[in-house]
Amino acid sequence: MTPTSYIELSESAIANNIQFIKNLIGDDVIFSAVVKGNAYGHGIKNYCPLAYKYGVRHFSVSDAHEAYELYNTIPHDDSTIMIMCMIDHNQLAWAIENDIEFYVFEKDRLLAAIEIAKKIGKPARVHIEVETGMNRTGFETNELKTVLSEIKDHKPHLEVKGICTHLAGAESIANYKRIRDQQKKFKKILKTVDQSFDTAPKIHMASSAATIRYPKTRYDLVRVGIMQYGFFPTEEIWVHYINKKKVYQNPLQRIVSWKTKVMDIKTVKPGKFIGYGTSFFTNQPTKIAILPVGYAAGYNRSLSNRGKVLIRGQRLDVIGTVNMNMLAVDITEAPEIDKGDDVVLIGNQGDLEITVSSFSDYSQVINYELLTQLPLHIPRTIVS
Ligand SMILES: *Cc1c(COP(=O)(O)O)cnc(C)c1O
Repeated sequence: MTPTSYIELSESAIANNIQFIKNLIGDDVIFSAVVKGNAYGHGIKNYCPLAYKYGVRHFSVSDAHEAYELYNTIPHDDSTIMIMCMIDHNQLAWAIENDIEFYVFEKDRLLAAIEIAKKIGKPARVHIEVETGMNRTGFETNELKTVLSEIKDHKPHLEVKGICTHLAGAESIANYKRIRDQQKKFKKILKTVDQSFDTAPKIHMASSAATIRYPKTRYDLVRVGIMQYGFFPTEEIWVHYINKKKVYQNPLQRIVSWKTKVMDIKTVKPGKFIGYGTSFFTNQPTKIAILPVGYAAGYNRSLSNRGKVLIRGQRLDVIGTVNMNMLAVDITEAPEIDKGDDVVLIGNQGDLEITVSSFSDYSQVINYELLTQLPLHIPRTIVS
């Protein structure tokens, strides 16, 4: 049964973005592809095999549930999966058995991991997250001493794969002082813990924004999310990149396109309201196209009377309120539009484009949020 809208992922864009990131960081830094939030809405099952195909061997997810899905999606003999946020004690055994790496940022999880690793007879592969100023997760500096001795005491049961922290908004210069302070603090922490391990743990702190703006934060590994999907984290980071590299063409390509078809057409007389309520009033005979897409499909309700779509190579206005499963488009100026015509909600048609950022400008929703709001039930197909 065909769904009312569909998402296309561009394989060439995926290859392009991965190559861009690899060129940017060079061979000495590991690129960990952040695929939390169902690969930022692209779909772990759809995106990750292609990332693997184009050479990605390190993946970061948010939780064990995502790790499990990813584990069953990509070849795992030569790739690493790292959980950055949630893993329940009762999921630790699975992770340890299958070489899934995970963050530890508080004692309970550390002790549970040691306990279970002991039982299984295989070390837990952990990344020690330290608090440097994000004030979210991470061991406080004054806890580190006991944490390190705990680790030392249970050496055969723990492999410290990484030491890491997370920056509190490297995508905005407004946070400059805070980010610099975090860098200083991390450096200091590294000095004290560096000698504690036989194997050299990977040091990591940078996401997309820091990878671009603060190259020193790249260390051994970068956790890059949004850029692999074709977006700079903010305009500001894009401008920073332009000024530094003196290249004015965007090196990243949007992967995602979102499309539907016109379901129905009608003409509404002047002096009427369209759809629920009174938000759109016709002051002339108004021809409308009804699309079978609404907020249940991720088309934000705040795009009521504001969104734009492409049909037959023309940019047209969404009018009235976005309903749960339908919306109306004003086609008065494009009367040739017919039932069944292709509609672009995000993407290109002819020379025109509906960009994700324009979409998010109208809806006050950031790129990250818009992408992850694309529901799982919309099928993703791969196009060249
Ligand atoms: C989401 C996330 C990232 C990736 O951020 P981008 O801005 O998408 O590159 C990196 N590290 C952590 C801990 C994250 O939660």
